Amino acid sequence: MTPMSIPSNWQLDHIGIAVSSLDAALEQYETLLGTRHYGREHVDSQGVEVAFLDTSNARIELLAPLDPESSVAKFINKRGEGMHHTAFLVNDIQRELDRLITLGWDLIHPQPISGAHGKWVAFLHPRSAHGVLIELCSYKN
Ligand code: ZN
Repeated sequence: MTPMSIPSNWQLDHIGIAVSSLDAALEQYETLLGTRHYGREHVDSQGVEVAFLDTSNARIELLAPLDPESSVAKFINKRGEGMHHTAFLVNDIQRELDRLITLGWDLIHPQPISGAHGKWVAFLHPRSAHGVLIELCSYKN
């Protein structure tokens, strides 16, 4: 598959930041961005509580672990708080996952799981993306 055939419908959706305390981080990020958060919810499939803040062209997602065994809790224990993932919105998440599997990419979720805000999400392994944990997301129909 040549680069010319790569779909151009990917949009940067959000940057995920792992935090220990969602309340403390929200206060700080609301001050930083001059806006209020929204969409605070527990995402049981990932053992986290999340909330979003808008910027003019993308969103920030703050994630705090609810479960010490969650991957976000392990991330914070190992590396401390900080940049956790970059998320792209795609039209057809399963088609993109199938395409990446064909190309030999290492996927954490070969099939989408239920994510925040009623979206489908799937993560690609950082070793396939030069150290970046990439999330794909799409709207459920
Ligand atoms: Zn995310």
